[in-house]
Parts: sequence; C-alpha cells; structure tokens
Amino acid sequence: LVAREGHPAGSVIDIRGIKLGGKQVQVIAGPCSVETQEQMHLAAAGVHAAGCKMMRGGAFKPRTSPYAFQGLGVQGLEFFQAAAREYNMPIVTELMDVRMLDTFLEHDVDVIQIGARNMQNFDLLKEVGRVNKPVILKRGLSATISEWLMAAEYIAAGGNNNIILCERGIRTFETAYRNVLDVTAIPVLKKETHLPVLVDPSHAGGKAWMVPALARAAVAAGADGLLVEMHPNPCDAWCDADQALTPQELNDLMASLRLIAQAV
Ligand code: PEP
Ligand code: MN
Repeated sequence: LVAREGHPAGSVIDIRGIKLGGKQVQVIAGPCSVETQEQMHLAAAGVHAAGCKMMRGGAFKPRTSPYAFQGLGVQGLEFFQAAAREYNMPIVTELMDVRMLDTFLEHDVDVIQIGARNMQNFDLLKEVGRVNKPVILKRGLSATISEWLMAAEYIAAGGNNNIILCERGIRTFETAYRNVLDVTAIPVLKKETHLPVLVDPSHAGGKAWMVPALARAAVAAGADGLLVEMHPNPCDAWCDADQALTPQELNDLMASLRLIAQAV
C-alpha cells in the first residue's frame, strides 16, 4: 500500500489545510518537550515568527533513563494546544502507548508522531492505522529502509494512508555526532513510496550548530519537510538542550532554505 507503483504524483497530506508533500517544503519546529505554559507560549511565537506553519513538542518523552524527565503528560498536551492555537498552528506530538490514543484524539492532536524507539511497536502501529489522523513514522534507531516501509505498511493496512516518513539519523560506528543523517534515504524513499518524507536534522546531528547544514542538505536532496527542535532558551531546555536552535537561528535557517527550495 505504501509502494510508489500506481501513485505517480506522490501523496499530499492535508493537515488542517496545510499541505505536506506538495510543492512547498514544510518546516515543523518547536521544543523537544513541553515544559511550561510560558515556554510553550514563547516557543509558539518563535515558530510562527520564523514562518513555520506547524509546531512540534513532546508531552510523553521516550527517555533512555527512567529517572530523566518523562514529559508532562496530559497537562503537556493542554499547554501545547493552548500555545499553538494562538497562532492557529497544527500540533505534532509523540504517542508512546496505545492506552493514550483516545486522550490524543480528545485533545485534538493534529499529527501523531511515532518515535524511533517505537517504529516496530506493531500493536501501536495497528492502532494508529485505525484512526483518521496523519501519522509521522520516524525511522528506527538502526532500521533498514525495508523494515521501515513494512512498519508504514502496518499503519496503511489498518486503513490510514495519511503516513509521513521521518528520517532522523541512524546509529553507526561513528561517535562524533549523535546519529548519521542518511541523506541517501531521501531519494530512495521518494522512488520506493508515495509517502511524503520529512527529515529531522536535530536528532541526527545532536548539536545545534550542525542543524542548518543538515537541514539544507535534506531539502536539497528532495525532502518534503523538516522536523526541527527550537527552544526559546536552549540552555535551559529540560531535554535535548544541545541540539535546540534559538528562535533567531530558526529564523535564519528558514531564510537560507528559501534560497534552495520553495519553503514556507
Ligand atoms: C523526538 O522527536 O522528540 C524524538 C524523541 O525523536 P526520535 O524518536 O527520533 O529519537
Ligand atoms: Mn528531542
């Protein structure tokens, strides 16, 4: 169902009127995690001012350590929704557990993110396959393209074709950066599937200074959009502080992307 065959044009996903997979490159930006009402208000203002039309933010966080901040949970969804609605921006947030799906629907989450660590959580994939909400499926930490596409197939098999793939870097022998951004995956996915392809340069590089170069490479290689971490005050971020852009850096990135493609 996700194969390119029979879909010469490629799918365009409509997210409250914003098109992902069309001519325009969409940049979804926001903090790694939802922290406070104030932080989300400032983040939303920065995302909007940079010209981005959608916002990201995690209320449920898949942390390596069980003692690290796990996200605000449902209250985080509320802070996020309130901040994003001020600018009429759809929200993207990660679902980790099937038991929270109804809560996500009740809180009108616009795009459900399935994180790298859950790419092969087949029960979760089956459940999001049954709903009528766009799903961003991130690539697993060391997933092959074919494993990733089979995971997408699980969602499509349930009847939900609103699937967006997100390359976020893969684990290799290299330790100089967080992950290796697999730019090669972009043309391969565009050839093999009709699904829109996003790239997350933040979790790939793991350092804010690497993000603009990776973002430009992704757009030049044909990505339909980007998922970028931005925090109103990166030094104070509760999660992934090293890789968060400042609002000004996001603004500068957007300007440089406009020279490569028809960005937002
Ligand atoms: C995220 O986008 O917040 C995240 C946890 O990313 P990943 O699943 O790619 O590690
Ligand atoms: Mn993060």
